[in-house]
Amino acid sequence: MSFGIVLLNVCSLFLLVTIIGISFLKWRVTGAIHFGILIFFTFVWSLGTFIELSVHSLDAKLFWRNVTQFGTFFLPVATIVFALAYIGAARRVIRLVGSILYIWQIIPVFLIWTDGFHHLMRVSVTLGSGISGLSTIVVTQTVLGMVCVSVNYALMLAGILILLISAIKMPATRAPLIIIAVGLAIPSIFSSLTNIFGAFVFGGIPADTSFAVGGIIALIGIQYFGFLKLTPIARDRAFDVIDEGILVCAVDGKVMDLNRAARSMLSRNYPLLKDAPASEFGVFLSKTLGSSLPELCAHKELRFNLKLSTSDAKIYYLLRSYELKNDKRLIGFTSVLQDISDDTFRMNRLLEKAEKDPLTGIYNKQAFNEIVNNLLESSYSEKSFLMVFDIDYFKKFNDEYGHLSGDTVIQEVCRRCQGTLREHDVFGRVGGDEFAVLLSGLEDEAARNLADRIRSAISSQEFVLGNHPVSITISGGLANFARTEESDGPSSLYNELFERADAAMYKSKAAGRNRVAFSPMR
Ligand code: GH3
Ligand code: MG
Repeated sequence: MSFGIVLLNVCSLFLLVTIIGISFLKWRVTGAIHFGILIFFTFVWSLGTFIELSVHSLDAKLFWRNVTQFGTFFLPVATIVFALAYIGAARRVIRLVGSILYIWQIIPVFLIWTDGFHHLMRVSVTLGSGISGLSTIVVTQTVLGMVCVSVNYALMLAGILILLISAIKMPATRAPLIIIAVGLAIPSIFSSLTNIFGAFVFGGIPADTSFAVGGIIALIGIQYFGFLKLTPIARDRAFDVIDEGILVCAVDGKVMDLNRAARSMLSRNYPLLKDAPASEFGVFLSKTLGSSLPELCAHKELRFNLKLSTSDAKIYYLLRSYELKNDKRLIGFTSVLQDISDDTFRMNRLLEKAEKDPLTGIYNKQAFNEIVNNLLESSYSEKSFLMVFDIDYFKKFNDEYGHLSGDTVIQEVCRRCQGTLREHDVFGRVGGDEFAVLLSGLEDEAARNLADRIRSAISSQEFVLGNHPVSITISGGLANFARTEESDGPSSLYNELFERADAAMYKSKAAGRNRVAFSPMR
């Protein structure tokens, strides 16, 4: 036997042992053990073929030919079992199919190995001549023998087909599955051709060379694609059943893949997108949000909303992006998309509750203080005025018409005041019947006029309490905001301003009510 062929065989056996080792080390991974068993039978087949070729006597050759039969007949079953395990078939199904097929395949092996039944499988075994000084045995099979071998090839084909069909169904692991199916198919194709055309069909290359080729291909599948590193079934399933949307985006911004949830979230109001290719979603997102997808993914957390076309309601999304790196080189992003509309709605309601006065819906005292404080700190506070006003003789309405009518008065005063205010004026209820308004961007004269318009809007028309028309007036105080050297910090600025407006308001009360007094300008 030539040195080259021996080397090839030894390498192929070594490769197969390596793959068996890797598979058993990764025994926790879906299908790893079954893959190891499958490669083990390939190893038996390969080893038997190699030794059969190396020994010279007919008896020895026959013995090793019979050893290969364990591999030849059990490999297809192992392939089917592996394919079923890898695609996540139920354990029960795997066990049932495996048991039936192994029992069925034991029959020809049993017949071959027993002297008494040997003749049922083979008519004759003779020593044939080969090339390069290698002789081979020529087996003439019985009809039963041929049936068994045919069934065997059919099973092998079925195993490879299951792998290929799974590859089509599971895009995430398509490449390694195809590679492994090809790796497995090569020895089968090679050996079926040698069965038909003789052992040296390819110009003197022995059949077992194909195991080396298949082994190398399978090893590439394992190493290059990380096969047996992950649980593809679990990941594939999770990808599609999880409620959060998942987008996989290349570094150039092209969306490579997205799961069902992401598809349905993003196409909720854009039905044309529903069945669009993944890349369309990237185009849609960058167009709608006005920046490229890599820019959007650069934010670790991005909140955005999409307006519904049918109503004013908006859907709020949270997009969390993670970088995908290969050897420190950025190759893309994977992003998790979450519909946070409910959370946003709830948060807005809580915020509303915390900030708003339940009776009137305007800011409560704390919120008003905080907002005005912040405004005074910013440059928006130039030419600002604080008006404080209080309902005149309010207790009287409570006493005469009841507390509920009192509430109605407070609400109506609010409504009338709001009707006079501009959009950016800040309005709050700072006491039982006391209110405050921050008016900004006004000259002194305009501010005084606005304050008086508020007063007259409330008092000019009668209120109807029950069936009683009543007139309601307010007394107000207006103070202008000015930064002074002495004031330290925004809260003291605000307190000062409030005290001046409040003092002016008391001046109005003292002067006869239903008027606005002005604090001396600063
Ligand atoms: P003045 O012109 O001096 O302001 O007289 P007034 O009667 O309005 O006196 P004051 O402002 O002291 O009275 C406030 C009253 O408002 C006392 C309190 O019972 C009543 N009040 C406070 N909060 C509410 C409320 O939410 N609803 C109702 N109905 N009454 C309230
Ligand atoms: Mg009052």
